[in-house]
Amino acid sequence: MAVSRKIRDTIENSSWIRKMFEAGNALRATHGAEKVCDFSLGNPDVEPPAAFQRALAQAVAAPLARKHGYMPNAGYPEVRAAVAAQVSREQGVPVDGGHVVMSCGASGAMNAVLKTLLDPGDEVIANTPCFMEYVSYVDNHGGTLVLAPTRPDFDLDIEAIESRITARTAAVIVNSPNNPTGRIYPAETLESLAGMLLRASARTGRTIYLVADEPYRKLAYDGAAVPGILGLYPHSVVVTSYSKDLSLPGERIGFAAINPSADDAQRLVDGVVLCTRILGYVNAPALMQRVIASLQGVSVDVEIYRRKRDLFCSALSSMGYHLAVPQGAFYLFPRAPGEDDLALVRALQEELILVVPGRGFSAPGYFRVAYCVDTAVIERSLAGFERTIRKLQG
Ligand code: PLP
Repeated sequence: MAVSRKIRDTIENSSWIRKMFEAGNALRATHGAEKVCDFSLGNPDVEPPAAFQRALAQAVAAPLARKHGYMPNAGYPEVRAAVAAQVSREQGVPVDGGHVVMSCGASGAMNAVLKTLLDPGDEVIANTPCFMEYVSYVDNHGGTLVLAPTRPDFDLDIEAIESRITARTAAVIVNSPNNPTGRIYPAETLESLAGMLLRASARTGRTIYLVADEPYRKLAYDGAAVPGILGLYPHSVVVTSYSKDLSLPGERIGFAAINPSADDAQRLVDGVVLCTRILGYVNAPALMQRVIASLQGVSVDVEIYRRKRDLFCSALSSMGYHLAVPQGAFYLFPRAPGEDDLALVRALQEELILVVPGRGFSAPGYFRVAYCVDTAVIERSLAGFERTIRKLQG
């Protein structure tokens, strides 16, 4: 057998998001692409801002020697410095370029950080509902992902996290604004988390690192603030990307920022740089590094997503779907009528509507709707959502 059992199993149990993507392809082939309303993928529909096109043209035209050559594995020093200045503003603590490592998206940064932190058998805690690629990212480096449920309002449940900490706990991952709930964790919750992690680290005799996965930081609505982790907990790392806020997911550009106050901070930086190399990324894409260096603080117009959110939320709520209005990111996470997320997903597919069941985020009974699509698609889907809830409520 050419392919390992582990990978065969993983392909068999491939993520729900992928499954929905494949179901969508089948529906499109049968009914025509224009008939299908696909809310399964977090692939931004808003084009990158005009400033991106200008920066890209400049980067392409710049007459630099070895413009496409190898570089230090951490990225270009001037790019790291520009990113660090923005991170310092956002996080409220001074971070210099030496603590920033450029990466292939948030996923690349997360993998480099986890490989740096984990020994075989170590544990990492994540809070459900969550982005389930974390399971594979932790497993890639010999660790096990341990899931802690959030509260009914999707805020972190500090006791649930605490009760899952063992001597093998190396890290806790938080993702705010959250995929799939759109929840932004408030500063008070993160302060309690920080206090608990300091006490737990003292108890277990091992520093527990906090990894903040922040690709949706700039997609926050109604003036909501996204508290900076680096100012709240010393042993922390931010991993993020320009995939969502500049609509560049295909360009694979992001970074890890290591808190200068973390235990073993320099070794952590050295480890993330080494792991960027030995995981085979070698370095983040050269051209994109130059482009994003001049786009610090720039993002797509968040109002576009805010309008889609408001349209969708008010329409679904008025039909009787139960959902909390998301504070950020571009997902809705309503309850499935009758609490059966698979029945709901199937019923919506009959209406040529694709969503992801909550169990794909370790939260059965809910479903995720990615509203980073054309407004016309949202409008076209509404009658199908209405018929579905009527049908399921009998
Ligand atoms: N983390 C979360 C919570 C995400 O939702 C995603 C993508 O959807 C990622 C990480 C991966 O981002 P990137 O494309 O920058 O690797």
